[in-house]
Amino acid sequence: MSAAQSTSPCTLLGETEVLVIGAGLGGVAAAAKLLHAGHESLVVLEEGDRIGGVWQVNRYPNVACDTPIDLYAYKFFPGDTWTTNFAPGSEIQTYLERVAGHFGVTPKISFNTRVVSTVWSEEAGRWLVTASDGRRWSARYVVWAGGLFSQPLLSVTKGAETFTGLSVHSTAWDDDIDLEGKRVAVVGGGATSIQIVPYVQERAEKLIAFVRTPSYVSPRPDIIFSDSERGTPEFVARMAERRKEWFDRYEVVTKTRFPMNEKLVREQEATWKELFDAQVKDPHAREVLTPRYRYGCKRRCSVACTTLPSPRITSNWWDGACRTWTATSSLTAWVSGTRWMSSFGRQALTPSAC
Ligand SMILES: Cc1cc2nc3c(=O)[nH]c(=O)nc-3n(C[C@H](O)[C@H](O)[C@H](O)COP(=O)(O)OP(=O)(O)OC[C@H]3O[C@@H](n4cnc5c(N)ncnc54)[C@H](O)[C@@H]3O)c2cc1C
Repeated sequence: MSAAQSTSPCTLLGETEVLVIGAGLGGVAAAAKLLHAGHESLVVLEEGDRIGGVWQVNRYPNVACDTPIDLYAYKFFPGDTWTTNFAPGSEIQTYLERVAGHFGVTPKISFNTRVVSTVWSEEAGRWLVTASDGRRWSARYVVWAGGLFSQPLLSVTKGAETFTGLSVHSTAWDDDIDLEGKRVAVVGGGATSIQIVPYVQERAEKLIAFVRTPSYVSPRPDIIFSDSERGTPEFVARMAERRKEWFDRYEVVTKTRFPMNEKLVREQEATWKELFDAQVKDPHAREVLTPRYRYGCKRRCSVACTTLPSPRITSNWWDGACRTWTATSSLTAWVSGTRWMSSFGRQALTPSAC
């Protein structure tokens, strides 16, 4: 029996060998590989109404991967229509839908289905999986692919309730937001902030970026692919070559930390310093944007060299500056990240209502 056939509470919708929770990058890959290997008894439960996970949710300006797409795309399905190696979110979203279609994952997905509990029966040797509307599945294996970043983190700032302008988290960005003539506060200094700030800078009347912990920012080596390059076997072959190069380079970066490798750390810090000195001249910005920790202790960011933002930047939002600013700005954009916890994670042990 398929999910679509019944929505009545507490109905056991059938037995499946594998049940995948989540249809983002992880869930689509797991389901695609299982189907490809011939495991047809498979169901994917997805809380949202589309494939894509974070790429479906995040539609803020300039949203893109900051891992080169050669490495970020699945090795078993690299894709051949990318316009740039730091692909925009919309292209990744389309790609994931294409992968899901290609491997027959899409018909296996039950959308608008939020899993609230998984209970293992030792006796039956099976999982009983329950959705928020009471529908239930019995599965031999459960693959958790619910992601880490599904809960926007909205910082609790004293006085925020008195702010009368528009306040929006980057995950809830709406295409209709018009920044013309607005005084905009961007709260956060990580990967999303680096993508969103240049956009705001170009449009808003005034921008202040609130940065608590500055990131090490390295140059982003953009490659733009032409129409004639795309969609060819050579394109895919070149992606494979770059994938290998990127993999090796990321290995080097990872080795700066595990264990701490002084020589590599110094090299990475020197790369950062070169870009920083070339682009950040204002003494206040230099003070605020200089990391006070060694390279590798926080996720590094990369930026297209032509778009390094130079807004008024302040780092003291903890001590009340943010409060003052949000009270007087017309729009606050929160790029304050997400809780490292999914909705399911918090409710996994909730007893089933049935
Ligand atoms: C803007 C942005 C840019 C990023 N760029 C990069 C990058 O360049 N490189 C990199 O390595 N990583 C990047 N990441 C990290 C990104 O999270 C991962 O790369 C990857 O996309 C995560 O895929 P996932 O399937 O694990 O999780 P998600 O994409 O979060 O998908 C999880 C899915 O599970 C569903 N779900 C959750 N709980 C339940 C439940 N209880 N019941 C049913 N469904 C549920 C959600 O609705 C969602 O669709 C980025 C993240 C963001 C937000």
